[in-house]
Amino acid sequence: MIIVLKPSTSPEQIQHFTDKLCADYDVKVNRWDGIQSTVLGLIGDTHNVDIEYIDAQDIVESVKRVQEPYKKANRKFHPENTVVKINDKVSIGDGSLHIMAGPCSVESEEQIVQIAKAVSVSGATLLRGGAFKPRTSPYAFQGLKSEGLDLLKIARKETGLPIVTEIMRTSHIDMFENVDIIQVGARNMQNFDLLKELGKTKKPILLKRGLSATIEEWLMSAEYIMAGGNDNVILCERGIRTYETYTRNTLDISAIPIIKKLSHLPVIVDPSHASGKSWLVEPLAMAAVAAGADGLIIEVHNDPPHAWSDGAQSITPNQFDSVAKKLFALKKALQNEN
Ligand code: PEP
Ligand code: MN
Repeated sequence: MIIVLKPSTSPEQIQHFTDKLCADYDVKVNRWDGIQSTVLGLIGDTHNVDIEYIDAQDIVESVKRVQEPYKKANRKFHPENTVVKINDKVSIGDGSLHIMAGPCSVESEEQIVQIAKAVSVSGATLLRGGAFKPRTSPYAFQGLKSEGLDLLKIARKETGLPIVTEIMRTSHIDMFENVDIIQVGARNMQNFDLLKELGKTKKPILLKRGLSATIEEWLMSAEYIMAGGNDNVILCERGIRTYETYTRNTLDISAIPIIKKLSHLPVIVDPSHASGKSWLVEPLAMAAVAAGADGLIIEVHNDPPHAWSDGAQSITPNQFDSVAKKLFALKKALQNEN
């Protein structure tokens, strides 16, 4: 961290400020006296240094971080990839490709079991399905709630697929005890109370990128979960809000290699919410695999025109079968290259 002091700062003030920084934080302070102003360089672990406090001091002209503010999620301090183990067959981040597939909303036992069986045959290794739905309109279907969780568990029993479903509030954590991966949706990426509570569990967490979140904000949200002691975080790029209106969001493909560079956490991609259009799911999913994603989460519905939510972006089980074949073939081709 680099701190530039105002030219009017006296030697006593500089000494007092330097002593305080050393006392408050685990850092050493290097000092350069220029003709106009003095520059302080903080060396050591600066991730918990309060930059706003420093910026607010009368003697400070400017302050700049040169190190990322996240530590546990940072590849610099954890060079090897994190692998999130779900069960004996599914480990996310181990170099294999995992596809989570299923409907946006769980609608009935027949629907979820039928879709689960179909996607399992096509190679999906996890079942997704929303029971608690964060909808833009309060008049839209809000999910079957706890009944939806029960139906997901029935589908898991029928197929053996671990289940992924979204949590919306802290008081529901006990209810999600038997869920294999707890999804934190884009709208809750900065629900810090929820992140902190999930950090106290050992549950695998699928952390979606916020609608307009920067990569650093997204990693700071992962840091919240990890700071509580839960390292089982999987990141999910699901498109961000841009000026483009043709698609529901804009898939940020560059986020995949950037996350791989900055963090050791696995990253998967959601081409369904990124595009909002079923015909875009295949090309975006292919691009995600080519860019190094550890997995995908894809909305699949047995009757998209009648889906209770997100029908326009849902593909059918037959379409999923064809997409999955191409994705696994692409993954294999990429592995043979290396
Ligand atoms: C979802 O996965 O159903 C969902 C609501 O996604 P997001 O939080 O990415 O909008
Ligand atoms: Mn959806």
